[in-house]
Amino acid sequence: MTRGFLCHPVLGALGVEHGFGTRAARSPSRVALPRQVHGTVVATVDSKGEAHPEEADAIVSGAGEGPVGIVTADCVPILAASADASKVVAIHAGWRGLAAGVVEAGIAALGPGDAHEIRAVIGPAIGVCCYEVDAPVLGALRLRFDGGLDRATFESRPGHARLDLCELVRTELHALGLAASKIGAIENACTRCDDRRFHSYRRDGAESGRLLHFIEPRSSDQA
Ligand SMILES: [Zn+2]
Repeated sequence: MTRGFLCHPVLGALGVEHGFGTRAARSPSRVALPRQVHGTVVATVDSKGEAHPEEADAIVSGAGEGPVGIVTADCVPILAASADASKVVAIHAGWRGLAAGVVEAGIAALGPGDAHEIRAVIGPAIGVCCYEVDAPVLGALRLRFDGGLDRATFESRPGHARLDLCELVRTELHALGLAASKIGAIENACTRCDDRRFHSYRRDGAESGRLLHFIEPRSSDQA
C-alpha cells in the first residue's frame, strides 16, 4: 500500500492500485490530474500522460495509460473500476457536480459492459455532521434526485438543511445499476471533523490544503 493513503477492499479485491489521500500521503509521481471546475466533463489521458481536456471533474484511464486522480477538500472523491479493472475512473463530486450529473458521466466513461459488475468506493468528504446547505442548493439537487434527496437531508433551520453528500453519491450509484455489494465507502471520515487526517475547505478556508486520490488500471499482463 502506498504510504498515507486509505485503501478499500471493494477495489483491493480486484488488485487495483488506488488510494484516498490523507495529510500524511506523499503524492505518487506521474498521476494525471485535471483542472477541476465543478462540471461534468470526463477527461482521458493523452500520450504525454496528461489530462485531456485539461478542465474536467472526472478522469478515466485504460490499460497502459497510467494512474489518474482528482483532489478534494470536502467534496466527495469517488474511485471506480470496470469488472476486470482494465478501465478506471476518478470522480470529483461536490453538490454542483452531483446536481449536474458528474457521477453518471464518470461511470459511463468506464464503457458499455454490465453496470452490476462495476466497483466504486466513496472516499473521505465533509459529513452530514458538518455540512449545511441553503434552499437554492437543495433546489438544484431536487431537480436531479427528486425523492432521493429526502434520504440524504436533515432539517436544520428554516431555509436550510444538513446534507449527506456521500449518501447522495450512493443513491446515484444505485440508480446507475451498481450492486450494493460493489459500492464501498471509507467510514467515519468527515474531512471537517478529522483535523488530524484531512484537509477541509470549510474548516480551513482558502488556506486549506488538498487531498489527492488516485487509481491505476490493471495492465493486461496482470490479468
Ligand atoms: Zn463532521
